[in-house]
Amino acid sequence: QKYIGMVEDCCCDYETVNQLNNEVLHPLLLDLVKTSFYRYFKVKLWCDCPFWPDDGMCRLRDCSVCECPESEFPEPFKKPLSQYNPVCQEGKPQAAVDRTVDTRAFKGWTVTDNPWTSEDETDNDEMTYVNLRLNPERYTGYIGPSARRIWDAIYSENCPKYASEESCQEEKILYKLVSGLHSSISIHIASDYLLDEATNLWGQNLTLLYDRVLRYPDRVRNLYFTFLFVLRAVTKAELYLEEAEYKTGNVIEDLKTKSLVKQLVSDPKTKAACPVPFDEAKLWKGQRGPELKQQIQKQFRNISAIMDCVGCEKCRLWGKLQILGLGTALKILFTVNGDDNLQHNLELQTNEVIALMNLLNRLSESVRFVHDMSPAAERIAGVQ
Ligand code: FAD
Repeated sequence: QKYIGMVEDCCCDYETVNQLNNEVLHPLLLDLVKTSFYRYFKVKLWCDCPFWPDDGMCRLRDCSVCECPESEFPEPFKKPLSQYNPVCQEGKPQAAVDRTVDTRAFKGWTVTDNPWTSEDETDNDEMTYVNLRLNPERYTGYIGPSARRIWDAIYSENCPKYASEESCQEEKILYKLVSGLHSSISIHIASDYLLDEATNLWGQNLTLLYDRVLRYPDRVRNLYFTFLFVLRAVTKAELYLEEAEYKTGNVIEDLKTKSLVKQLVSDPKTKAACPVPFDEAKLWKGQRGPELKQQIQKQFRNISAIMDCVGCEKCRLWGKLQILGLGTALKILFTVNGDDNLQHNLELQTNEVIALMNLLNRLSESVRFVHDMSPAAERIAGVQ
């Protein structure tokens, strides 16, 4: 049993997290994300990538490249493009987004801009509503230099792997959040993989699960960290989320949504076993606190901007959603100081709440898959 004791920098142990997730959180989240309110995500899917202007990766209209001055690009993004093979990933059916539209109106929510993300959330132009249930996060065939370049840019420019003796806790957080999300994406690829293209056979790929995630215990640890971090944000915003309006026009379903949110954020078992999944109060205390917060906010906004360069539509959809979800968690935990002020000062918009809960669900599924499938994946890999 590799994962015992406290999740690093968190306030709960692995066993408790697994138990709570299996018994309470995962079943509730699965029901919640099926509701109409949580099923639709507003997103701009065009690939307006500001970083690699002459990439030639995609020439489709919905993957156009915006022309920004060269001087704006960070150095590592200017690598000679000849090393990249300009293949458009958009053509693959499994990478395309099903845009079956549903123009339900969301009422009673304010629209404000999130300082942690690069997207202007108040800009409705070119935004579409996407039904997330029709577009599950899974294997899309997005591999090779284009995908690799995104991860490289995120890690090298915006959240370098920390040397444990040097970095303060705040600097580690961004790396761990991104790494945890990266693990989760890999786990979803492994759990829903195209095993045979000819017969369109989908299933689990436990070798991939082992090779990309389980082989590296810190990737698993970072997944648990990210899960607890987002869970803390959701439970910290308990009152706000309980009182929010979930209006889609179907009164009965909206009541169900509200009740599921209430059960999730105030579950007595979770409160007893893991009352504060992550303790944000101990951060930003030192002299460098405000400066560090600004730096990390800037890095996170950069990561959010890089999502426009993801060259596979469905990956871009889930990348944007999950980065917005993380940005919302950061906003809840770090923008407003003190629990007492939270209720008054916090303002979330529909899309942020949808992203936050869907992200928590994705992470919860990943934690469950790792927990359930590790023994079999390790047996196949011959390490058990
Ligand atoms: P990659 O996953 O590309 O990893 C690149 C490098 O990052 C690795 O070599 C390793 O050094 C490092 N690394 C890997 N995992 C971690 C970790 N957890 N923590 C720290 N470092 C790590 N593909 C799909 O099929 N479906 C999707 O929905 C999908 N969504 C994506 C969303 C985004 C935002 C991005 C950027 C890519 C997405 N992809 C998706 C592509 C997928 O993530 C991989 O890039 C692709 O499958 C190729 O994998 P790889 O083995 O080359 O390693």
